[in-house]
Amino acid sequence: MIRVIKHTFVLSILIVQSSCYVFLIQNPRKVLFSQLQHKYSVNIDATWTEEQARILLNIYESIYQQSSNTTQEITPSVWKISNETINENVLIETVDNVNHITISSNVFSNGESLTNNTQDEFLYNKRLFQVVAQVITENWTNIDAVKLILKDGTDRYAIELVLKEMYGLSLVLTDTPEAEKIRQKLRKYVGEVEISQFTNQELMMLMSIYEKFPVALHKIPKLKYLLCSQKAPYAGSAWIVADCVEYTKQTFRIKNPKEFQRIILHEKAHFLWEYALNGKLRKAWSELGGWQKDSKNRFGWTKTKSRKEFVTDYAYAKNPNEDWAESVAYYIIHPNKLRLSSNVKYEFIDQVMHLYSDGSIPFKRLQNLNTR
Ligand SMILES: [Zn+2]
Repeated sequence: MIRVIKHTFVLSILIVQSSCYVFLIQNPRKVLFSQLQHKYSVNIDATWTEEQARILLNIYESIYQQSSNTTQEITPSVWKISNETINENVLIETVDNVNHITISSNVFSNGESLTNNTQDEFLYNKRLFQVVAQVITENWTNIDAVKLILKDGTDRYAIELVLKEMYGLSLVLTDTPEAEKIRQKLRKYVGEVEISQFTNQELMMLMSIYEKFPVALHKIPKLKYLLCSQKAPYAGSAWIVADCVEYTKQTFRIKNPKEFQRIILHEKAHFLWEYALNGKLRKAWSELGGWQKDSKNRFGWTKTKSRKEFVTDYAYAKNPNEDWAESVAYYIIHPNKLRLSSNVKYEFIDQVMHLYSDGSIPFKRLQNLNTR
């Protein structure tokens, strides 16, 4: 009897000690592994290092944060890293509704970043991003034909699916009836548009910036197309009339990541001006900038405030809409600079962003902001 008690006592000390061990030493690798498991049904094995697991988790987070499909059940997946040569660096096999994914270690060792600037927080390991996008879009679609295409390893297809699913965007392809319609609409504004094609890398760069907007702003019903053009007077242009944003090839050659992001955010912000704000809110914004309608001015507006209350020269140059687009871009990439130039504009945008961040409401036009 004493011996039993003694054993129980020793055993309970061991249990207490082992649970203390678990609580005291939070192994970061284990935490990452369990986050992947619980949030995304992703199981990774001992072949993964902590750093690799972190990259994989970041990619999942970035894709799912703004996905409207998060409620959809995620197919469990088991991920292995292999040193053997694998065609296209990835092998996906589905057995009993579990995706078994083997990726080549090359994905990490020769991992090509999205841009050359490794300091940039938006970068992903390009190949791994494609693999995750492929795995996730497989979950989204149960159409056999689509699955077949994905199984061929056509990454482009996976990227375009993600673009459509997450941002409601389609690409304007050359020589399609859609392209012709858009061209016709643009002819009177910009003349003939020479349509080019985005590379996969360019599309992923765009997506990584779009995700900076709150979830409910990822899909804006009237923003339907992305158009890539060979040459244009500006690096980017939002064409409300043609439901599209046009980027030129020169946009992607911009070396400064913040400048590149500014352009992408700015163009999308024009769609928010048009569709997220009602007339009353647009008027309220115009008043913050001291904008007054002026038929004699070539841009139709004059301002009563000085340059220092505008975040950039361009915000000051034309009209409340450009002021808004520049300010929204700065709200995301340089919030302090916006605050310094105009705290009231910062507060205005902050309220808009928060209204769209509360829950995952679908996109709708705002009627009011709360005065704080
Ligand atoms: Zn603009």
